[in-house]
Amino acid sequence: MSGPGGAGRRGLPFVVSAPSGTGKTTICRALVARDPGVVFSVSHTTRAPRAGERDGVDYHFVDETTFEALVAQGAFLEHARYAGHRYGTSWAAIEAPLAAGRDVLLEIEIQGARQVRERLADACLVFLLPPSRAELERRLRGRGTDRADQVERRLAIAREEFQAAPLFDAFVVNDVMEQAVEDLAAVVAAARRGGRAALPGAAGLAAVRRRLAPDLAGWLPTDQGRVRERPIP
Ligand code: 5GP
Repeated sequence: MSGPGGAGRRGLPFVVSAPSGTGKTTICRALVARDPGVVFSVSHTTRAPRAGERDGVDYHFVDETTFEALVAQGAFLEHARYAGHRYGTSWAAIEAPLAAGRDVLLEIEIQGARQVRERLADACLVFLLPPSRAELERRLRGRGTDRADQVERRLAIAREEFQAAPLFDAFVVNDVMEQAVEDLAAVVAAARRGGRAALPGAAGLAAVRRRLAPDLAGWLPTDQGRVRERPIP
């Protein structure tokens, strides 16, 4: 089968990363549902399935021993530990669809995005951001699953994750969900036309800095990615 680019086209890997509470899963699922040229990469994880999650569909649920054996075999494009559990994208999850000309969407956290950046030159990395710190906090509290101190912890983690923004090729703000899906689809369309080079990179980061509420724009690193050193008192 050939993908949207025509016969012989190899698919593109897309990575979507975002701080927890940004609505990443909803947006990624919406994109995959509307675009048959994009398939979702099913990761391996050692965490237990949540209600409604299916093995082989949402994740490949495995134990630590199996995960470790896969790492030793070199089965993973990337893998990371997150909130006490292991997560990884296997080469097997992406190779067949890419070879068949389909684009593959990896919804993964930031350590994994870094590894993909190092290993796949054509990967298109998209950073999804909430519109403001207040909105991020509201969404984290709204989930009702976290205690107040955990919300604070997640906010602190999000702030750290923002430091990785210069690694990314494109930026999407999830203010209105439908618009964020449109914006992500536009990133995919641009990359299909011109590859990763067609994505805005540093210019996109500058643009998103202007778009975010000041309480959140201040979390983005300055100096083209290097956090400005604090003066020694
Ligand atoms: P959850 O347990 O809520 O499904 O996912 C926790 C975090 O792990 C999310 O940020 C999710 O994007 C990330 N994640 C899911 N699969 C992978 C993966 O294969 N590799 C990495 N590095 N992160 C993943």
